[in-house]
Amino acid sequence: MKKLPPYINSAVASRDFKYYIFDWDDNILHMPTKIRMERLQADGSWQEVEVSTATFALIRTDSVNYRPPGGKWEDAFRNFEDSPRRDNFLEDTRVALTRMAEGEKPAPSFNALRKTLREGRLFSIVTARGHSPDALKRAVKLFVDSVLTAEERSEMLSNLRGYRQWLDGVGDGEFGTDEEEIDYYLSMCRYCAVTYEGFKKRMAEDPIYQEKLAVAGNSSKPELAKEFAIRDFVEHIFHMLRRSGNLNRSVSIGFSDDDKGNVKTVSRYIRSELSKRFEGIKFVVYDTSDRSLSKGRKVCVSGQMNLPGF
Ligand SMILES: [Mg+2]
Repeated sequence: MKKLPPYINSAVASRDFKYYIFDWDDNILHMPTKIRMERLQADGSWQEVEVSTATFALIRTDSVNYRPPGGKWEDAFRNFEDSPRRDNFLEDTRVALTRMAEGEKPAPSFNALRKTLREGRLFSIVTARGHSPDALKRAVKLFVDSVLTAEERSEMLSNLRGYRQWLDGVGDGEFGTDEEEIDYYLSMCRYCAVTYEGFKKRMAEDPIYQEKLAVAGNSSKPELAKEFAIRDFVEHIFHMLRRSGNLNRSVSIGFSDDDKGNVKTVSRYIRSELSKRFEGIKFVVYDTSDRSLSKGRKVCVSGQMNLPGF
């Protein structure tokens, strides 16, 4: 019989510090949400088509043959926002998880998120969608509830209590219920849908990004938003480590995305800015665009290059 994890896993205090930033669509899950576009016909007219996110990643720069409905991008992504009629993100996540339960192959970082949750590590979801942070958090909770086995769930709780004891000084007998501890953990993670109004507002109010946005062309704004979301998470981790007196530890932050364009700009951003500002942090980028590779390809490593075996 498998040994049960301890009620509190105190060993988390001496374990490596690894954190992850995940793109969601086609990286964590193959979501059923469709983008509304128009395709150029042979006679010069435009016909409405609904495309998957995987197809969109390939055609999004093909402005000769594709355009959003009537040229309005906001209409292309209506299904990627919250709606009073339907909990879009949660329900689409449910559909994607059901398809997997029925045998669909997992997306490249599906198991990485599963492991991250089981280990109780902090993560950030960064997506081009327009949902509220709470909508994303509810979907991750659904992932916890429907993907993790009973053993994985008790391992996760053992780790979460370990972190709470170590970082927050919570003693045995002082923990909340399992649901409360999971909720506390998920609240410590970040959920950035970069076209959500609240996110855009926060970005526009940031002095550095205010300036960057002012000089950026329209096409580079989504990439800037991803940058901002990544910096937000790295700062969050940095402050947490500083507060707990752990800045001297080896820290690595991974980023995975199936969109080659995002991988390229994020890698450039890490090299040119983040790795200089956060010298002690190792950054790893995973390009998960090649579906024939089960976990994606590591494309860029920066920081702590001199540490053997790390
Ligand atoms: Mg994606």
